[in-house]
Amino acid sequence: MYQYRRRFTREVAFGTISLGGYQPIRVESMTNTHTMDTVATVEQCRRLYDAGCEIIRLTVPTEKDAENLRYIREQLRRDGIDTPLVADIHFSARAALKAVEFVENIRINPGNYATSQKFSSNEYTEEEYLNEIEHVRLEFAPLVEKTRQYGVSMRIGTNHGSLSDRIVGRYGNSPEGMVEAALEFARFCEEAGYYDILFSMKSSNVRVMIQAYRLLVQEADAELRYAYPLHLGVTEAGDGDEGRVKSAMGIGALLEDGLGDTIRVSLTEDPVNEVPVGFAIVKKYNEFHLVNGDRGHIPLKHVIDSRNKQANHTLSTHELPPFSPFSYQRRASSQIALAGMAIGGDNVPRVETEVHASLSDRDAVIEEIMMRLAPDKPQDIIRSEFVSVRVNNEGDLDALDKLLGRLGEEGRCVVASTSDLPIFGRLLHKVSKVRFDIIEGERFENELLQLIGNERLAVVELCFLHQASGYSVPARVLVHLAEKLNRRHAHRLLFSVQSDHVVFVYRRLVQAFKSSSLDYPLLVRFKADVSDRLESIIKSSVQTGTLFCDGIGDMLSLNTMLSADDEVSLAFNILQGARIRMSKTEFISCPGCGRTYFELEKAVAAIKQRTAHLKGLKIGIMGCIVNGPGEMADADFGYVGAGKNRISLYVGRECVEENISEQEAVERLISLIRVQGKWVDPV
Ligand code: SF4
Repeated sequence: MYQYRRRFTREVAFGTISLGGYQPIRVESMTNTHTMDTVATVEQCRRLYDAGCEIIRLTVPTEKDAENLRYIREQLRRDGIDTPLVADIHFSARAALKAVEFVENIRINPGNYATSQKFSSNEYTEEEYLNEIEHVRLEFAPLVEKTRQYGVSMRIGTNHGSLSDRIVGRYGNSPEGMVEAALEFARFCEEAGYYDILFSMKSSNVRVMIQAYRLLVQEADAELRYAYPLHLGVTEAGDGDEGRVKSAMGIGALLEDGLGDTIRVSLTEDPVNEVPVGFAIVKKYNEFHLVNGDRGHIPLKHVIDSRNKQANHTLSTHELPPFSPFSYQRRASSQIALAGMAIGGDNVPRVETEVHASLSDRDAVIEEIMMRLAPDKPQDIIRSEFVSVRVNNEGDLDALDKLLGRLGEEGRCVVASTSDLPIFGRLLHKVSKVRFDIIEGERFENELLQLIGNERLAVVELCFLHQASGYSVPARVLVHLAEKLNRRHAHRLLFSVQSDHVVFVYRRLVQAFKSSSLDYPLLVRFKADVSDRLESIIKSSVQTGTLFCDGIGDMLSLNTMLSADDEVSLAFNILQGARIRMSKTEFISCPGCGRTYFELEKAVAAIKQRTAHLKGLKIGIMGCIVNGPGEMADADFGYVGAGKNRISLYVGRECVEENISEQEAVERLISLIRVQGKWVDPV
């Protein structure tokens, strides 16, 4: 939890490559063609191969599709494409048994492999429960035997929302249920002496997904014979920036924990687009291993030792995470008022962005501030709630005075930052918040404490500029100051750190605050010093999103090289992805696959265009009736493919309109939202 070390896992073969162990974290994607369409599928595989995709998954709904894998594979190998293939199986044991002959890996879903899934709330007696486990074991055994015979590995891929009725009846639709569903199948594999397995625990809810993987690791490492590799992914992440942000947050949070051996970014787009996003997410971790070699891993001996000791090993306070890794609880913080807005406590995290223009160019600064605050736009348009300007010297102070004079009412949202103590003292009477940057090793304490203790207008943010020191140094310095300020009853304070390793330094900070019973609000701050747009989105999402998913943070501040609009929208996408602040409609859309028989991407675009203003509403747009209704999880409305150009509409999990034509389905969805009283006209 406090420094990056990758969990050492059993190495599992995937044809020409392998994953886990000391292997790089592999990037997978999945075709969305019909697997019976050999030409289209081979062409899409070729495009994925050209994009660098390391593992290609294909959907295999029937035995006939499984048969056709033979021709797809033969054509690919003739074309010199040796990328490992994965057969994605739901329900059909016969398809699985056939597919094994033509692929390197087979993915089964424990929620629907030889088990019932009707989303009924059937109560199972103990006897019924055990009988069904035995039934599944017997049905599954031939597949295990055949995969071993063909040297094929297997992914036990659980999805939140498509758990079996039996598991939901006992564990609920929860991370615990997901973990138990996967462990049942892993036990069958181990009983049969088959160990070439890996796991996945996907969900469209990023927080549930993170918790489920962590819980799986804890339970599986305590029980199973080996530490098996993990395939990471957020399902139904959607498209565009939102899809990239959600995927980066979920996958990145776990990679920061040292978990994950292969990933797939699921986007409702051309699957080729998933590949660069995947590589952008794993880049930092794979580079870490290139530089540090085996030292980047938790040694195998340590894994085994910790498993042996787990039963009676108690973590010291220093090792304990300052939050529950397996369930969501927001860190409790005190509430303060900032320019008429409440920060901390139960309030949604507020958004601040930094003005790039220099105060010496007043027109440019005003233009940028207006763009970020957007006071002339309708109220429901997202905007930065605070904008931060940098004040370095006397000239900047004068310029700030004039700027505030020109801005009038909007000036309340302008906050300032400096690392100069005398300037800090003067800013305290000019703006609503002043950030003082603490530079490591500088002597400032007495004067700073005195200034903060004096009467002031501004909220004070103390920000530690973390550079080369250990991850616990910012916490030590800030807690020391916070304790002194607390003793002086100084309120209206915020604390933050600027670091390249935000996740670890904030965890240390939260842990130290907790030990000292300090509940000052925290501002999560991140500076992405990269010009590449995708990299900027990924880094910001991983570093700050991880913290918000773990309940850490009362305010978010981003400083990137993105345009002002993009940066503001990124901040809100991160908070929405962590489900802590809903500022627009939440779209849960699957990437589509060989089970999709309508124009999914077009439908997503049309529905987004009509409903993007319905703040807080969740709409699932799913490619097929087989998995869609379950996997759109907690969506309020569902738009689900029901056959060739046919759509069924759902309210929650209930199908209310069946098999309507694709042409009229979007209008019917809008009518349904109106009838259910959830529609508002766009501004
Ligand atoms: S929900 Fe989407 S991705 Fe999943 S099986 Fe159906 S069409 Fe394929």
